[in-house]
Parts: sequence; structure tokens; C-alpha cells
Amino acid sequence: MIAEVAFDAPVDHPFSYRVPAGWAPARGQRVLAPLGGARRVGIVLGLRDGDDAALKPLLSLAEPVPVLDAAGLELARWIAAESLSSVGSTCAALLPPVATPATPAPGERAPAPRPAATPTGAGVELLVGAGRERRLLERIAQAPGALVIVPDVEAAARWAQRLGKARPVLRLDSGVDDDVRAEAWARLGADGGLAVGTRSALLSPLPPGALLVLVDEHDIAHKPPGPPRIHSRDVVLERGARERRHTLLTAATPSVELWVRAADRGGVTMAPPAPGPWPAVTISDTRGILRREPLTPPLARAVRETLAAGRRVLLLVSRLASSLACDECGEITRCPQCALALVYTRAAATLACRLCATTVPLMDTCPHCGGRRLSPFGWGLERVEHAVRRRFPRARVARWDPEASRGARGEAQRAAAAAAEIVIGTRGALRLFGPASLGLAGFVSPDQLLRLPDFRAGERMFGLVWAAAERVGGHGSLVIQSQNPTHYALEAVARQDLAGFYRAEVKFRAELGYPPFRRLALVTVRGGAEGRRLADEVAAALRASSRLTVYPPVAERRERARRIVVKGHADLPAVLAAALEDFRAPRPRSRGIMDVEVDPVEWPS
Ligand SMILES: [Zn+2]
Ligand SMILES: [Zn+2]
Repeated sequence: MIAEVAFDAPVDHPFSYRVPAGWAPARGQRVLAPLGGARRVGIVLGLRDGDDAALKPLLSLAEPVPVLDAAGLELARWIAAESLSSVGSTCAALLPPVATPATPAPGERAPAPRPAATPTGAGVELLVGAGRERRLLERIAQAPGALVIVPDVEAAARWAQRLGKARPVLRLDSGVDDDVRAEAWARLGADGGLAVGTRSALLSPLPPGALLVLVDEHDIAHKPPGPPRIHSRDVVLERGARERRHTLLTAATPSVELWVRAADRGGVTMAPPAPGPWPAVTISDTRGILRREPLTPPLARAVRETLAAGRRVLLLVSRLASSLACDECGEITRCPQCALALVYTRAAATLACRLCATTVPLMDTCPHCGGRRLSPFGWGLERVEHAVRRRFPRARVARWDPEASRGARGEAQRAAAAAAEIVIGTRGALRLFGPASLGLAGFVSPDQLLRLPDFRAGERMFGLVWAAAERVGGHGSLVIQSQNPTHYALEAVARQDLAGFYRAEVKFRAELGYPPFRRLALVTVRGGAEGRRLADEVAAALRASSRLTVYPPVAERRERARRIVVKGHADLPAVLAAALEDFRAPRPRSRGIMDVEVDPVEWPS
């Protein structure tokens, strides 16, 4: 008998091994087998009769029973195809570690596969608005079991504690020991129950009747780097449909993709968002004045009043963007075709579009108002901190930038931020605060987010400002200083009008052919001169497909990489796989490295 085994490698096809006499491995079971001179863990994708005399034998069974059943394997294949990853790498990323020491288990019989899920009032529901988490907890309490997927390990610990008040919770994420995790996987399949995990729990066994849940769909941590590059929301929706399982998603500000499905009869139901307690929102117009002082009078006044009331202040500062805006009217210089912010290169004195590669010579005056100052101006964290300390010398002030502070120094900064009256931070600083815990959230210059050369720039800004409003709640204030004070994202937050934002954003996406109306992929090729040649070959192969719109390669990271943006339709992964077949086979690194990401959530900038 021959076993077809897939490994954690970027190779599409499985490898064949002889099954020693008396062994009975099953599909979906992990085994140890020799590969490239090493003992490697792989997963059995298939078994067949054939001439196995010339094949190397399997070394051992890595676990007594299959970790995936037939439906789980099929879902893994779907994920691999959608993300242009290999099935082996997909399984390696989405399965718990092999727990028990590997021992040969000749003759051990795999248990009968568990029964297929029976339809139980299947459907997909999106929970938005105030009280969405309370409603989710009620639904979970009524269900016989549930698999709750959260964005990261921190959230897994929080949700396990929350759900654990009512009944035992199995942890499937890497925040617990490998053995605990592996045992939780096995127990969930055998006995059912309630489980919490990150994306590595997406394939875990789940008894009939249990709910599939995805928390905080809008969190970009649901699509981490590394294969398979796919958003957990897409896997949860696919799995729910395959197993006809009731699926629930929560989001403060859902992705436009999900909103369109919910609003446009795309198979997702959504109750109209319930309004909740909301802060007093002030939008402070900074056109023409922002350069002198990072805090305008309305924001400075709000800080003073909040401190006087003994409540906490969060000032959010965004990283500087590499594009220009008019100091007078706030207008951002954008690509006329793509509407993306143009990226300014000081050395070349040009503006370039990161999508269509158009370059525009630097202009002297604002095309919108004729103003004379176009600049990449913005406030950095340090300068804002300096200004705040000068203005409020007696307040306890801390700076918190989780992306820039790691390790012991990060811990010390986190402790300082937790004790501070005024925290000055980037968007990650929001995580320090629970719902309705702030007296004031102030945005120094969220326009930087609108200046990102990313079609999701408006969605990002909206999500961040909305999240800050929820952290303030009904007894505090939100002050937004902006050069774009009438932007629909800000107006939607001011009116607590979730639907209002999506109305405008969906129109923009539809007009310019951005997701969800078309699908996008980023094809990145790295490597010196050989890499450039490879990029040209890849671009030519993509252009040969009539199903794709291919933009010219753009140089990145000082010419070390070239990026090709591709627009396609619902079948984009399959079309890309066919067009790039010749390039996806393993090749020496010296000949260039190609990487494909379908449905990117963050644009490289
Ligand atoms: Zn202007
Ligand atoms: Zn463009």
C-alpha cells in the first residue's frame, strides 16, 4: 500500500511512501517519514494500492488517530487553493502540535469517523452595534457547544475567562501548553463542548449542533502573515456553509466585504445596529492652523476638563504617511485614476501611485484651492508628548507605541501607560482600555490614515475612530482634529451612524472596482537582477490571462522587491494558480522568490 503524504513545504504535490505491513494509517493522520535526509512530520492525504517496492517506508505514526476527518481535509484543500498555499503548509499552520511522543503503532485501528454535522437551522448572522457581545454570550449559552475564533492569544485568554464563568472552556490557541492544546482538540471532537482558539483552531473537530463563532471580524489580526494567507472570516463562512452550521460573527465596524453581504442579501443576516451610549463628539477643523500647536483649543479644553474630573485621557497619533496634503484646504493629492493617495518621494521630487504606477510631477500649488503649501506634514508621538507635558506639567503622562516597544522595555512602558492620566499612543494603545473606560479620546491628526496609499484608508480611519468612541462610551467626549472635517467617516462616527459610512464607502469601492466588487492580489518578487527578470516574466504570464487586470510592476524597498497588483473576479485564486503554475515550483533562491497574497488587508507602504 502507498501513502501520499504532504509536508510543511511550498510544494503542491504530496510524496509517496510504502506503508509497512500491518500498519493501518488513515487519511488525515499525521506520520513521520524521511524527507530530504530528515525525519519530518507530514499528513496522509491519500492511500492507494500499487507497486511500493521502490518506495521508502513510513517511519512511524505520529499520533494514534487522524487529527482531521474527510471534511476537515477537504476544507484544508479549499484553504490552500484560495490562498495559493500548499496543503502541507496549511495543515502545519492550522493543526495543533503533535502531542505524544511518536511511537510505531502497527495494527492500531483508527476510530470510525465522527458523524457528519446535521443541519440545525443553519445561517450566518452578523452582530453589530451596542450589546453585540452580550447577545453573542446569550446565543452561546443556549447552544450545545461552540467554537469561538478570536483574533489573537490575548483575546483567547480574555474570552476563555469570560465564557468559563458558565461552563468549562477548552483552549485551542498557543497561549496554553502544546499537550493541553492537543488534548483539547481530541476532546472537542469526542465530547463536544465549548472551545476558544485563534486561527489555528479553524479546522478543529466540532460536533453537530455546535455554533461557529468569529469575534471582532474587523480585526486585521484575523489575517496574520505566513501561509496560508487567508482571513479567518472567509474560512469560517466556508466551513459554516459546508457543514450547514449556524455561524455568528461580531464586529464593531465590519469589513466592507462582510457588510455588503449582510446588506445585500449575500446570505448573511444582520439586525439593524442598536445605538448605544455615545460620547459627545467634536470635530475640530485644523485646515490652515495645525502647524503651530498639536492641540487645538477644543482638544486642550477637553483634556483639562477630563483631568479635573479625575478621568483618563487617550491621545491618538498616527504614523506619518508618505503623501502630501494641502495645509490650507486639507485636500490630499490622489491618483486621478485610482483615487489612492500618491506617494511622495523627496529625492525624485515626484508623486507616484502605488497601484497603477503613474507618476505625477510635483505641483507648486494645491489643485483644489490654489494654496501654496503642499506637505507631508504630521505630528509624531514625541512632539505631541512634548507639547502635552508643557501644557499639563502636573499630569502623569506616558507614551505607548506597542508596535515600537517590545520585550522588557515594552513591559515597563506598558506599566507606565496603565498608571498614566494621559496616554499618548498609536492605534495599538486602544487595547489598553476597555469599553466606556475613558473620559476623553482625542485624535491629534487622523488625516494621516487617510493619506495611506491604500484603498482601505477610509475604512481604517473609520474603524479606529469608532473603536475609540466605544472606549469612551456615554459619559465622556471624543475630539477629532482634522483637515478633512466633513469626511463621511468622521460624520458617521459623530452621528453614531454605522450604515452611513458604508453607504458612502460602498459607492466609492463600486465606482473604482475595489473589493468586494473585484478581488485583488499582490504578487511580490524578491532578488537582485534575477529577481527583476523573474518579475518581468511573471508580469508577462499574468498579462496573458484575459480574466486579470495587471498593473505594471512597482519597485519596493529600494529596488529589492517588485510588486505587481492584479485585479480579478471571484475565481481569482484559480486563475492566478493557472497563470503562475510555472513559477510556483520550488526554485533556487538565487533565481528570485515569488510570493502571492490574495485579498490583502493591509497595503504595503
Ligand atoms: Zn488646497
Ligand atoms: Zn493610480
